[in-house]
Amino acid sequence: MGRRFCLLNDQAVAANYLLNSKLSKSILIIDLDVHQGNGTAEIFNKDSRVFTFSIHGDKNFPFRKEISDLDVPLKDHVQDEEYLNLLEMNLKVAFEKSKPDFVFYLSGVDVLSTDQLGKLSLSKAACKERDRIVLQACKNKNLPVQISMGGGYSADIKDIVDAHCNTYRLAFDLVT
Ligand SMILES: [Zn+2]
Repeated sequence: MGRRFCLLNDQAVAANYLLNSKLSKSILIIDLDVHQGNGTAEIFNKDSRVFTFSIHGDKNFPFRKEISDLDVPLKDHVQDEEYLNLLEMNLKVAFEKSKPDFVFYLSGVDVLSTDQLGKLSLSKAACKERDRIVLQACKNKNLPVQISMGGGYSADIKDIVDAHCNTYRLAFDLVT
């Protein structure tokens, strides 16, 4: 069910397509947008072929959270080092538990300290490091990964564009 922001969960549609077409047997969805991946968690709640992993602001929308396979709710104003440590630790767990053959990554940049909706306090450098940790892990495991940009609500649109571009710059650098 679309709750205000997203009427169509494109990653869920694509994940179901891969599973139904027998192109994939086990999928990991990594949702690092500051808002919990609640729709994805609800859709795949009873589907053991899809492992949903969300790191999000505990006090951010949605106020009633769904249950992902792995949820890491963060208190307000979490900063770079704490965030990146939690990501590395939990990403390892997500890979171990899901053993995916395909990864979806939702790389929302509303984790930035400049964001007007997100309650976390990440620098742009840490946001880029976040992407590097995820994409490098996928590359090390030789896994295909699809990236969706997710949210970004910084006052200066340049901050949003820079951070989103960093994700794709990194992805490009890792494959060339
Ligand atoms: Zn968001």
